[in-house]
Amino acid sequence: MNEAPSPQPTPPITPEVAPIPRKAADAEGLRPNIIGMNRAELGAAAVSAGAAERQAKMRADQMWRWLYGRGARGFEEMTDLAKGFRADLAALFDIRRPEISSRQISNDGTRKYLLRIDGGHEVEAVYIPEEDRGTLCVSSQVGCTLTCPFCHTGTQKLVRNLSAAEIVGQVLVCRDDLGEWPDAGAKAGPAQEKRLLSNIVMMGMGEPLYNFDGVRDGLKIIMDHEGLSLSRRRITLSTSGVVPAMQRAGEEIGCLLAISLHAVNDELRDVLVPINRKWPLKDLMQACRDYPRLSNAERITFEYVMLKGVNDSDADARALVKLISGIPAKINLIPFNPWPGAPYECSDWARIEAFAEIVNRAGYASPVRTPRGRDIFAACGQLKSATERGRREKVGL
Ligand code: SAH
Ligand code: SF4
Repeated sequence: MNEAPSPQPTPPITPEVAPIPRKAADAEGLRPNIIGMNRAELGAAAVSAGAAERQAKMRADQMWRWLYGRGARGFEEMTDLAKGFRADLAALFDIRRPEISSRQISNDGTRKYLLRIDGGHEVEAVYIPEEDRGTLCVSSQVGCTLTCPFCHTGTQKLVRNLSAAEIVGQVLVCRDDLGEWPDAGAKAGPAQEKRLLSNIVMMGMGEPLYNFDGVRDGLKIIMDHEGLSLSRRRITLSTSGVVPAMQRAGEEIGCLLAISLHAVNDELRDVLVPINRKWPLKDLMQACRDYPRLSNAERITFEYVMLKGVNDSDADARALVKLISGIPAKINLIPFNPWPGAPYECSDWARIEAFAEIVNRAGYASPVRTPRGRDIFAACGQLKSATERGRREKVGL
């Protein structure tokens, strides 16, 4: 491939990322956003708008229910707060979601949203309806610091991390679009299994574990049982293998984990997933074995993109089974989704089936992920927004 394996980490895989410009909103003359605040911060916001200290918690709880239980978009909707107090809140704060720059609906029902966030950057979120669930694929960064050569996002430089507000905002925007907020009067929203948006995968643009705080704080709001209330077991975070953050993810977020494996030896993985040069397979597999709450009910998903003639032989399939032996696991075979200029091709269907057969015979469920939304460039690895560091013109797809 285009990169020789190297024992030393190279600049593209350094974790240092641009911090979220905390004052970005102020710089643009916008009021602070109350979306993304935790309950303590919401309480402090209420006090700054004139609520008594001893009522801070109650006011925060009320606002929380409006924001995340009812999808309120303005303070005037919060009818159990005094009118004057609502006006004072509105003078100081915003309820700001990402703006939909464009929405495309695939002929299979997949919806791809291009979302504009503070600072004018753009990220994508993809909603995938299925019979028994609806999954939102959420982005964690604008671009990515990593440079996996088969991934379109990897060709886009990292611009910045998303804030907790922007991570929660993707869910709010999708629920707005699906019209899935409980009516005023209703005690609660639909049960999780009946919801249009029932699952979340952190598999959009970016490496979620390189934006640990933003992702954790955003997911905590999404999991809070009084608001959006998505169970931690319906949330899957995919990492390319940021080994030191995996344990923390299990402890502090508690969601399910997916690993972008894609190769079964260090030589090839160093090329396909360059972070492997920093944390090779031995360390990655140990971190998987140590993942908190790992069990048959909460298995790790190993993602494996099928690249013709690169990682798709029978020997690779057998080595894969051996590598993960003893780990409660699912294997997700992903047909490579092409993008213009991509240096790989997707394995033939017969090859994918033969590979899957070996994995199945070893006792692992290995669903082949049906590509969704390919016609609108919404499939895995095809996401790339027009925003790049230092330039803002549109990139033709
Ligand atoms: N950065 C994280 C999460 C986002 S990528 C990670 O790498 O895990 C989500 C999944 O899509 C990853 O498994 C990634 O390897 C895979 N992917 C990327 N480009 C792809 C492509 N062109 N075709 C198929 N899958 C791809
Ligand atoms: Fe980044 Fe994941 Fe794409 Fe690799 S596969 S470049 S880690 S988004």
